[in-house]
Amino acid sequence: MDLNTYFDVIREDVTTRFLRYVRIHTTSDRHSTHAPSTERQFDLARVLQQELLDLGIPEVELTEHCYVLARLPATPGVEAEPVALLAHMDTAPDLSGESVNPQLHQNYDGSVIDLGHGYSLDPRDYPALRDYLGETIITTDGSTLLGADDKAGVAEIMGALRFLVDHPEFSHGEIEVVFTPDEEIGRGVDKLPMEWFHSKFGFTLDGSREGSIEAECFSAWSARVTIEGYVIHPGSAKNRLVNAVSLAGKFLSALPGAETPEATDGRDGFYCPVEVRGDYGQAVIDLIIRDFDRNEVQRRIGVLEQIARSLEAAYPRARIEVTSQQQYLNMFDRISEHPFLIELLQAAVRATGLEPVMEPIRGGTDGARLTEMGLPTPNLFAGGHNFHGRFEWIAVPALVRATATILNLVKLWVEKGQ
Ligand SMILES: [Zn+2]
Repeated sequence: MDLNTYFDVIREDVTTRFLRYVRIHTTSDRHSTHAPSTERQFDLARVLQQELLDLGIPEVELTEHCYVLARLPATPGVEAEPVALLAHMDTAPDLSGESVNPQLHQNYDGSVIDLGHGYSLDPRDYPALRDYLGETIITTDGSTLLGADDKAGVAEIMGALRFLVDHPEFSHGEIEVVFTPDEEIGRGVDKLPMEWFHSKFGFTLDGSREGSIEAECFSAWSARVTIEGYVIHPGSAKNRLVNAVSLAGKFLSALPGAETPEATDGRDGFYCPVEVRGDYGQAVIDLIIRDFDRNEVQRRIGVLEQIARSLEAAYPRARIEVTSQQQYLNMFDRISEHPFLIELLQAAVRATGLEPVMEPIRGGTDGARLTEMGLPTPNLFAGGHNFHGRFEWIAVPALVRATATILNLVKLWVEKGQ
């Protein structure tokens, strides 16, 4: 079966799904202690649950913690290991995901795209746009993020399932589909019922540009610096006051400027302050620390301690505490124990007519945590660009080819067992 002849059908289905899903507000909230962190994620989960049932998938479940679980049985007579496909439903809290108003730019001519709200998308800044001359580009209207991360992945998995249901002649093994909440705040698998899985391996559809395959990610820790000042009325503060707000500023300026997200790429790690709050008396700085080498993460936590001690030495009335917490680990070690996973992904990407690109993820995915938990789960591209902000975009052909890559993967997965 030549998938290329079905691209028009897939395009129509996956594009409409994508445009439907991005309009549903699913921003997660790192300050919430609930699971899911926001009730609104159920709005998309219920839509997906209903659409899966409408497709005739026999086993569909929506858990109390907002996981959508679905199982498509193998084609009768096909013997293959089950395999899991995953994508996340939430969008990053970095920018509003409410009232997303996706803009379609048809027959793209390579010029600057006017988003609206005073923002534009310039191919000189984002040259990948020029890969899609003559195609349709989907952007934001400048006021929100788009949510291609990861509603593209959700739409592509749904599109692949729809195709399999419509084409029983396309044989496949048992396929388990999981849509997760709260990936963007690092809790995407916290309440996932692992005992539900029949699969021993999974794939997340949560990568960026076409062809990319990710089997390596950061090792990630969060850190919190709590600064207790010494409070005296400002009118009589000379030589006595220690202002926690000012110390927070000093702490931040002591961080190595060359080890920030904006100063690094490739395999270099960083410190990234993500939130500062406080007043005259007490201030808190939340940071994330990232590196492919976990020893480098530990070294950076040591540097935070050193900065704290040297500020305390300079301001003996201040108390500065540093705490840290592991978030996820680089999944490379465990995935590389199963080289066929990457070989199959590469073959699936090639079968779609793309060149596979192995990229280390400068971030993490649900797959990193799943891999730690014993379900090795590398990441495949979903096709979007500029995640987490108003400049996010995706081209329609990327949605189509990601869906085709899933189908090729499903097919190769059956063949590997024979
Ligand atoms: Zn994502």
